[in-house]
Amino acid sequence: MADYYETLEISRNATAEEIKKAYRKKALQFHPDKNPGDAEAEKRFKDVSEAYEVLSDDKKRQLYDRYGKEGVMGAAGAGAGGMHGFSSMEEALRTFMGAFGMGGGGGGGESIFDFFGGGGGGADFGGGEGRRGARQGASKRMNLTISFEEAAKGVEKEMVITNYVTCTNCQGRGANSPNGIKTCTKCSGRGQVYEQRGFFNMAMTCPTCHGEGKMITDPCTKCQGRGVTKEKQHVKVPIPAGVDSGMRLKMSGYGDAGQSGGPPGDLYVFITVEPHELFEREGNDILLDLPISFTEAALGCKKDVPSLFNHSCRITIPEGTQNGKTFRVSGEGFPNVHGRGKGDLLVRIFVETPSGLTERQRELLQEFSTLESPSNMPKRKGFVDKIKEFFSGQ
Ligand SMILES: [Zn+2]
Ligand SMILES: [Zn+2]
Repeated sequence: MADYYETLEISRNATAEEIKKAYRKKALQFHPDKNPGDAEAEKRFKDVSEAYEVLSDDKKRQLYDRYGKEGVMGAAGAGAGGMHGFSSMEEALRTFMGAFGMGGGGGGGESIFDFFGGGGGGADFGGGEGRRGARQGASKRMNLTISFEEAAKGVEKEMVITNYVTCTNCQGRGANSPNGIKTCTKCSGRGQVYEQRGFFNMAMTCPTCHGEGKMITDPCTKCQGRGVTKEKQHVKVPIPAGVDSGMRLKMSGYGDAGQSGGPPGDLYVFITVEPHELFEREGNDILLDLPISFTEAALGCKKDVPSLFNHSCRITIPEGTQNGKTFRVSGEGFPNVHGRGKGDLLVRIFVETPSGLTERQRELLQEFSTLESPSNMPKRKGFVDKIKEFFSGQ
């Protein structure tokens, strides 16, 4: 991929505003919805999104200016998010939605629930640009936070969104009755007027009807002729088990109503999953730290550990178990969000060193320590050998 500045066709000292402007222009030009099936456009869309992602972030931009692309990717490891190049359309679309600040509420139409992924999906976020005829309604973005358990089991959430919906009084016509719409007299319904400028006959959007070709003589009393009204809508969002933070659900048709017969926009629900006090998520596996005493670790024991799915699991901890050892309970993790299998519960042992010893305990431990032998500490020998090797090499 070429230089990020060249990709966005901006100078190296472009301001944040200029970067954003350049990106928006290019992203709209190459957006997959505008270029269905065009692999070249798809690649350009990913490239400009990647360039914007870096250049719009002051830290990443500085690194890029100093070290080039390698600098940005190398530095990402520890910090914010990580950059690996925009291999997926998912990332590119996320950047796109971020840059366009998709906000607001969503409604109307039937729900087709699907995942935003791999090349497909998306919507025309602009809310349409055609001067006349059908216009798609604007798409909406909403954030939704769910609990760890809800993410594991799936849940249905009701959201309230404010949408432009087709006016129920005029069915979107904008006039109280069908007779209240007349063909524009200025342009005779063409939507354009012509003006003589020297030798040229220039076509212009009709100033009277704004290109619609018709005029409303009897504006609808409910929507004042707009054809749409703002309404609060309740939308049930089905959230599949296995969903994770950063995923988006697309609710097709739950954005603003379209105009002049255009399709409605979509609603995108951005998911955030709250952390859990006990469990941690790693992919589809669930990690649980289990504290046990050093005698339990040395002698072995059985433990009942909690599972997210409301029943406990018994695990056997064998004699001589070391700190950090992990036991796998098969199938007790998150279900795959696409319904393909389940993760596991990983129980990680944390051996606690006893503190606050009583006299008697101290006595016993001191006696025990006199009986300790190297064979009690299998790792110790290897460690000591390595230290010797290290010093003899110096
Ligand atoms: Zn109306
Ligand atoms: Zn007109």
